[in-house]
Amino acid sequence: MSEWSCRLQTISMGQTVSASERLELMDSLSKREDQARLLAATSAHSGDWLHALPLSGCGLRLDDRAVHIAAGLRLGANICKPHQCPCGATVDAEGPHGLSCKGGSSRSARHHSFNDIVWRAMSKADIPAVKEASGLLTTDGKRPDGVTLIPWKDGRCVIWYVTVTDTMAQSYLPVTFQTSGPPYSAPDRECITKVYKNSH
Ligand SMILES: [Zn+2]
Repeated sequence: MSEWSCRLQTISMGQTVSASERLELMDSLSKREDQARLLAATSAHSGDWLHALPLSGCGLRLDDRAVHIAAGLRLGANICKPHQCPCGATVDAEGPHGLSCKGGSSRSARHHSFNDIVWRAMSKADIPAVKEASGLLTTDGKRPDGVTLIPWKDGRCVIWYVTVTDTMAQSYLPVTFQTSGPPYSAPDRECITKVYKNSH
């Protein structure tokens, strides 16, 4: 366990991290991974998952192993033995590679889960929509993750994209070690509100 994670644990026992303490911790870190982790762990709502009711019927119950891994990733603790992933990447003891491994199924599972939440929200709001409609491509060649079945504005339907981000992914670290929050690129944000013209 790294030094800062020990200090963060000590602080979290009953104190709120002040801005100066956060800055002091940040200055003590040399690795981008640790800086990104601290920024994410101390950002607003990052701990909201701890307040979710553990309802199995809603998929909100985490087993002991899941909590162990989630807490370990949050604190930068060692959660596995260093090894080589079947995808070829080297996995260190802190194990964040599993969240962004292109060879595993977890990325796809999380994407489908999030997409389902968006689709259910649409249904709750009485907005007919379908997920991942076949034959639907935008002009940039991307397939939307969902589309409304009724016109939204000017005779056009709304499409949406779900992007599952990982603070510790190598591709996001150049952004996340400096800025907390989802590492969206500006074009991705625009896609969320993009209006799709139905061509058939
Ligand atoms: Zn891998």
